[in-house]
This record gives sequence, C-alpha cells and structure tokens, in this order.
Amino acid sequence: MRIYSYSRIATYENCPFQFKLRYIDRIKPGTEGVEAFMGSRVHESLEKLYRDKSMAKTPSLEELLDFYRENWDKNLHDGVVVVRKDYSIDNYKEVGARCLEEYYGRYFPFEQAKTIALEKRIEVPLGEADLKFVGFIDRLDRREDGTYEIHDYKTSSTLPNQAEIDQDKQLALYQLGIEPLWDDTSNIELVWHYLRFDKELRSKRDHDTLDKLKNEFLSRIYEIETTEKFEPKESALCNWCGYQDLCPSKKHAFKVAKQKPEDFLKEDGVKLVNRFIEVKNKKKELENEEAKIKEAIFSYAASEGVDVLIGSGYKLKLKLLRRPKYPSKSDDEARYDALVDLLKKSDLWEEVSVFNQSKLLNYLKENKVKEDLLNSIKSYEEIVEDKRIYTSRLKDIEDER
Ligand code: SF4
Repeated sequence: MRIYSYSRIATYENCPFQFKLRYIDRIKPGTEGVEAFMGSRVHESLEKLYRDKSMAKTPSLEELLDFYRENWDKNLHDGVVVVRKDYSIDNYKEVGARCLEEYYGRYFPFEQAKTIALEKRIEVPLGEADLKFVGFIDRLDRREDGTYEIHDYKTSSTLPNQAEIDQDKQLALYQLGIEPLWDDTSNIELVWHYLRFDKELRSKRDHDTLDKLKNEFLSRIYEIETTEKFEPKESALCNWCGYQDLCPSKKHAFKVAKQKPEDFLKEDGVKLVNRFIEVKNKKKELENEEAKIKEAIFSYAASEGVDVLIGSGYKLKLKLLRRPKYPSKSDDEARYDALVDLLKKSDLWEEVSVFNQSKLLNYLKENKVKEDLLNSIKSYEEIVEDKRIYTSRLKDIEDER
C-alpha cells in the first residue's frame, strides 16, 4: 500500500533530501526543535481537555496546566534543541502554557459544538487500489445547525492572513476524508486555532477546489515516485532540521558548530574557506587597483605625449584601440533584435550566426529534440567537470516555522 500524508508531501516540497532520509531510508532525526516539542505538548493537553469534556468532566485551568507541565517534564529529552539562542527551553514552556490559558479563557465552557472525534484518522482513496491519503484531524465537531467543523491547533510564531488560509491544503484534504463518512456532511468548515495569537481563522472549500487539490496531490505523488534525485534544498527551515549531521549542505556547519573557537579555526575545511575568501577579496582589491593605475598611466602618457613608459626592468607599451561595438541582447534587447532581423533578411546571416551551445543544452533538457536526432547529437557529447564555488555570507536565523 502506498500511503501519503500531508506532512510527507510537505516534507518533499520543503526538501527532497530530508524526505528521502525520513521516508525512504527511514532514519530517525537526531534532534527535535523545541517549537515542535512544545506543539506536541499543547496538542496533547487540548486533546485531554476535550476527552474529559466528552466524559462530562471539565478540567479546571490549573488542572490543564498541571497536565501540560507534567507532560513537558516527562517527555523532555536531550535531543530537544533551541535554535533561537536568545530564548531558553523554559521560555517555550511558558509560551505553550500561555497558549492554553488564552484558549481556555476564550472557549470555556467548551460548548460551542458537539465533539465527534479527537485525533480522528481519515483516509482518502486516490484513484488507484493501493494508493491513499491518510491524515489525523485534531478535533472534529458538529454544530447545532448541522455544520461539521475540522479543527486544527497551531503553535507557530507566524500568523497567516485570510488569503493564505483560503489556499491552505492540509485541512481541505481532511475535508475529502470526512465527506463520505456520513450522509449529512454537505456543510463543512475548516477552523484553525493560531494559539500564540489567540486567533481563530475559518475557511470553506467547494468541490471544484477539492478536485483540483486532489489532482495536484496526485501529480506530486507521481513526481516523488519517479524522481531519481532527492537533492538537499536549503532554506530557513534547515535550522530546525534533525538531519543536519547527514546532509551534505549542512554537515560541515553542524560539525564545526560544536567546536571551541580555537579548534574551529584549525579545522581543515574552515582554514580552506578562510584562505579562499582572503585570496578572492585580495584579487578583487588588486583588480580595482589595477584599473585605477591603468587610468593613471593613460592620463600620464597623454600629458607627456608618450606611448611607452619605462619602469625598473619593465616597459609598458600603450595602445588606445577604438573598435566598433554592436548591441548585445543583455545591453539593449530591442536594438539587438532589430539588428538580427536585418541580418536575417540579408545573405550575411549564414556567415555571422553561430552555434549556440547553451540553447542546445536547454532544448535537450526540455526533451524538445526527436529521438533519432537526439541520439546523433549525444554521440558528440562528453562530460566535463565544471567546479564552481558560490560564496555567500552566513545569515542569522531569519524565520521560524
Ligand atoms: S538541513 Fe536543510 S537541506 Fe539538509 S536535509 Fe535538512 S532541510 Fe534539507
């Protein structure tokens, strides 16, 4: 059976390499971000609240917070990491407690609707016998007017706007799982609780949107199942990734982050990077310096009326060349196109147009060449190594999930 959840697909979209490690190689992440840890504890507490409620027992706020704090302490492990170094684990523990307090204050006595299920597993067949979507709904409610509500708790530090919520895919997929379960599910509302903001957001989906979403989901699954490359995709989310020690894009940073400053500077990779940047910066400085001296040489030569200058063991012969220049595509596209049109209409085009290698490569990449021609072209192909280094500054953490 091929089973896909929303988080599987989202993981692939965020980083194919992380997807491979987690779902294909089945490697457990080495660390857990404190935000995810806090989210789990808050979810458990709200689950307990509504479970008690369904048993005619409403826990007091103190009881709920005690449950949350006990669970926090019981589950805390060495792998929980705080990425934002300005804050401690206790700060996050307090944020979670505040989420619960505000939720409690807003919804007490929790009788807005009838709770039908908690942590409800839903399944959506995806058109092939062995393929389905599986998800868990935090809470499924039914209001007095017969509307079903799919509730989801979020403890993230960013609040989406209404347009973003109307595009959200996760709860819409859950709607697909609820609709066939009963014969009175024609009205379904999607409800998000952004607990850190004490904010409730709502949205609805029509059937056209749901069909489109199902197709999108299916084509993403086909992409996953046919891809051969699961490349690392760096983003702000890397800071919270539990596979940094295995990832080619983060492994070195992960290794050296643990070293003392004196050892850090002695590490071979760090030494090579520092030397490379030093040489690169020097080269840039020297190129700037060379351009300035060149200008000075020409103005000195012009003022002296000479074209040869003597130094210690060297002489410089100066030449000022004036050559014609025609517009290139990057300079001035309109003039470039006009010139090309002019040449195409003349006999000169055959003589001056050249074979464009990068255009050919693009055609091949996009499968725009017929097979017999492709094979003939490929017989001229050789693989060369092009070693490139892209430099960028290390950034502070920009974003939090
Ligand atoms: S560290 Fe970043 S690039 Fe590497 S696997 Fe994790 S998310 Fe992907």
